Amino acid sequence: MDIIVLRPEVSDEQIERIVKKLEAKGLKPHISRGAERTIIGVIGDTSKVTEDEENAIRAIPGVEDVVRILKPYKLASRDFKKTNTIIKVDGAEIGGKKVYVAAGPCAVENRVVLLDIAEKIKTAGASFIRGGAFKPRTSPYSFQGLGVEGLKYLKDAKEKTGLPVISEIMDPRDLDVILDYVDILQIGTRNMQNFKLLMEVGSVDKPVLLKRGMSATIKELLMAAEYILSRGNEKVILCERGIRTFETATRNTLDLSAVPLLKSLSHLPVAVDPSHGVGKRELVAPMSLAAVAAGADMLLIEVHTNPEEALSDGEQSLTPAMFSELMKKVSAVAKAIGREA
Ligand code: PEP
Ligand code: MN
Repeated sequence: MDIIVLRPEVSDEQIERIVKKLEAKGLKPHISRGAERTIIGVIGDTSKVTEDEENAIRAIPGVEDVVRILKPYKLASRDFKKTNTIIKVDGAEIGGKKVYVAAGPCAVENRVVLLDIAEKIKTAGASFIRGGAFKPRTSPYSFQGLGVEGLKYLKDAKEKTGLPVISEIMDPRDLDVILDYVDILQIGTRNMQNFKLLMEVGSVDKPVLLKRGMSATIKELLMAAEYILSRGNEKVILCERGIRTFETATRNTLDLSAVPLLKSLSHLPVAVDPSHGVGKRELVAPMSLAAVAAGADMLLIEVHTNPEEALSDGEQSLTPAMFSELMKKVSAVAKAIGREA
């Protein structure tokens, strides 16, 4: 028994009775009040609930149905919530009709370059600025990011352009400080199964962009989202960013089938990062358009004013001119499928 669907006329007292029964079994109720009806998601090991106990709950007045979810992820699943989750960030509604584009450098390098990039992506029509201040680099000798100084520059960029900020958190100890500077917390591919980090970001009221681990299955991605949701943070955006396959001609293999699949399995918004997915500048635009056609709610694109000089991921960064051209096409594809951009 994983979901208790309540009748529209259910009373608070009846809900309280159900909650007590669940808590007595060591289960945690997650009450979700929708426009039409209220449902209770049951968190914990529901296999401990016997059939008799399940029937007793079904018999409580106010209960319409009790449903078992066979999938291991529950709060993330479409069975739990039929309608798309829409995440509001400033004026944006991610997961709604509009397709949003986040753009910016791989890493925040300095204030002047960042502000210049911010202005250019804003002019081209981006809705968010992305940029790493804490960088997960393969080599300890590579540029590791500016840390808090980088977060400050991102905030300056927001002040100047109005673009909300997306930036990666790698360490739970940075959570307090990063919350003052970013609008969406990014969990990178390398940390998708850093469960401690997932639980920490699950405990705050800030949207989380959760990137698919480079060797993670769709189920593992949804289980990672479940960690965040089960701690109370309902604002999770799933992000396909390419997976490791035998193919070496591209940096990763961008799994675009993940988009419609995730949309059918889950109610959460889905983003695509074609930049890390392909690793090659000239492939970013076509894969961005394909991602929108596949149903992505958001794109994450690396843009740099001087990609040759970028401190990281220059080879996959678009110039502002390329980005501007791409934005026009993103709009056209979005319109062709009945959306906006
Ligand atoms: C990034 O977006 O800056 C990044 C490091 O991405 P990923 O975690 O997908 O490699
Ligand atoms: Mn990068």
